[in-house]
Amino acid sequence: MAQVYDRVALIGLGLIASSLFWAMKRGGLAGEVTGYARSDETRATAREIGLCDRVCDSAAEAVKGADLVVLCVPVGVMGAVAAEIAPHLAPGATVTDVGSVKADVIAQVGPHLPEGVHFIPAHPLAGTEHSGPRSGFAELFDNRWCLLVPVEGTDKDAIARLRALWEGAGANVEEMDAEHHDLVLAVTSHAPHLIAYTMVGVADDLRRVTDSEVIKYSAAGFRDFTRIAASDPTMWRDVFLTNKDATLEILGRFTEELFALQRAIRTGDGDHLHAYFTRTRAIRRGIIEAGQDTDAPDFGRGARKS
Ligand code: NAP
Repeated sequence: MAQVYDRVALIGLGLIASSLFWAMKRGGLAGEVTGYARSDETRATAREIGLCDRVCDSAAEAVKGADLVVLCVPVGVMGAVAAEIAPHLAPGATVTDVGSVKADVIAQVGPHLPEGVHFIPAHPLAGTEHSGPRSGFAELFDNRWCLLVPVEGTDKDAIARLRALWEGAGANVEEMDAEHHDLVLAVTSHAPHLIAYTMVGVADDLRRVTDSEVIKYSAAGFRDFTRIAASDPTMWRDVFLTNKDATLEILGRFTEELFALQRAIRTGDGDHLHAYFTRTRAIRRGIIEAGQDTDAPDFGRGARKS
């Protein structure tokens, strides 16, 4: 595969940054990759495991001379990081991010970037419940979607180049506007995470009554919830604080459906329950047929866990 960028800077060295680094190495997509994370500990780990060709002690140093800068930090600090790197960006460079929310990130980052720097927000729809510099792997983005969310008037060549990087990293790329992205993700990712957090919280309360039975007899449904609910607390706090409206809209609809199912159970309306579960089963089949998951009971992620 051909090199897409001469110098890439990764700001934040967690799951997504480390996976992107290994995917870039696998595909020969970047000349030199520099990296920066805020803690000494993460930078030391990165040096130890060879994550990045050069680990820098400041974000400013990492972005110097980079033709692509990828912000891989929690959504809540994107603006602060953009302000920090802005004076050090090379003219003509592209700044992108991997944040799970787009409208808020555009509002945070956009105003800090100087003229002549291309800003192309992005979101790879791939992840695990693991975080940190050791959690990444080159295959994370294979056959997953990466959504590019360019603001109006963005340079077409700069978009094509970023698309080539993500395709080289294994992803399928599509463009979308920020508001639509945030609503789609509220349905497919953000609200389900909140529901998983709630279910695990409820079971935890119950555990105090039933001792260890919740864990001992943990069945597949609950175990899948616990995997999702083990996701990084900082990342998910920021997702809900920054994609507030779309998430609340979807949770409102969820609550209405939940009440309808509750009523069906109370009134013994088996037809309602059966019809509902038949409809939802077809959605699962559709996801598997689209190659976005396997039929394995652990959601196909067992082999990837680090
Ligand atoms: P992660 O594994 O927790 O890593 C976050 C990294 O950001 C860490 O290296 C952390 O440094 C660094 N960081 C935090 N605050 C910083 C700051 N102020 N300045 C510089 N570095 C800072 O997170 P991740 O899962 O890779 O997520 C990164 C981004 O990708 C988030 O915006 C998230 O929404 C998005 N995303 C995540 C997933 C997923 O499933 N995990 C999927 C798609 C997109 P320290 O280690 O030194 O604290």
